[in-house]
Amino acid sequence: MARLTKLIREMPATVPFVGPEVIERERGRKFRARLGANESGFGPSPKVIEAMRAADAEVWKYPDSGSSELREALAAHHGVEPENIVVGAGIDGLFSTLAALMIDEGTPVVTSEGAYPTFNFSINGRGGALHKVPYVNDMEDPASLVAKAREVDAALVYLANPDNPMGGMHGPDVVARMVNELPEGALLLLDEAYAELAPKDMLPKIDANDPRVIRMRTFSKAYGMAGARVGYAIGAPELIAEFEKVRNHFGMNRSALIGAQAALADQGWLTHIRTEVRSARDRITEIARRNGLNALPSHTNFVAIEVGSPERAKAIITELAARDIFIRMPFAAPQNRCIRVSVGPREELDLFAEALPEVLKATDDLG
Ligand SMILES: *Cc1c(COP(=O)(O)O)cnc(C)c1O
Repeated sequence: MARLTKLIREMPATVPFVGPEVIERERGRKFRARLGANESGFGPSPKVIEAMRAADAEVWKYPDSGSSELREALAAHHGVEPENIVVGAGIDGLFSTLAALMIDEGTPVVTSEGAYPTFNFSINGRGGALHKVPYVNDMEDPASLVAKAREVDAALVYLANPDNPMGGMHGPDVVARMVNELPEGALLLLDEAYAELAPKDMLPKIDANDPRVIRMRTFSKAYGMAGARVGYAIGAPELIAEFEKVRNHFGMNRSALIGAQAALADQGWLTHIRTEVRSARDRITEIARRNGLNALPSHTNFVAIEVGSPERAKAIITELAARDIFIRMPFAAPQNRCIRVSVGPREELDLFAEALPEVLKATDDLG
């Protein structure tokens, strides 16, 4: 056996998410509706596909290790400098690099119980000490996060805004206050995976040079490029420069970088996607309502629906999977009284709408 680190030897086996393909293999059958991974079933801009196809012929080349053109385009888009931006293999990849930069064994980190799990995965992989506070009113709670950060002298505090898995969002004033109240020396990791789907006036305006915050964005959600694995962080140049020491410099797929640039250039597609996502969210909410269930308001590409208990949520997921419909649910109480349904094309939501009444009947005793 290889000489693993003490940390890894003592760590229990764990997976942050079981992907739909893994589930399909286990079942020996494909899903007909893929409504569980918050992907964009509406796909990327046709211009992205065209650009990536054209780029594929040059796949023999290594990617631009500095992602220079994409960083310049992102900087122009956000009105910041390229030195404020580092590109990585999705937000998940950037979590891992940030953890390499910041987490020693025992470094205190604060997040919420049941918040996005891949963040925890990266922190645990470095031996960080995760401290968790509960959601309040189905939202991650900035005041609790700040209080815990003070209590444990946190190096890093995590907030997803809009939030996954519940879909809610804090306005710009709440986030600005949170930044101001952070204890000295704490960094806020503001995960804005769904920012492009949120109303523009709800997004906090944060100075990219503010050393107290690092924001993360992705091409996986609104831009519909989850399989391409492109994300980026925006932060103070001093912090962004540190990524150079440990990041995987050639870890980006060349065609994906070119595709991301095409996606950014086609903001018209994003406008179209916002409309599609909003109407699909409304449709899911309406399907829930017709079945006597409450759907939570969402600023993302998914909707959390209350079904009464974690047992029932689990049973609903199993029953829907038996009908070839893939959805997920939150991991922790009290959020896990919900199921989480991602938006998707009309035909897939039709399948969900059709299956839900009988699935609810079959799981009625668990509500
Ligand atoms: C989907 C998601 C991510 C992961 O994004 P990638 O760029 O695909 O790694 C990160 N954070 C949240 C809150 C998400 O929902």
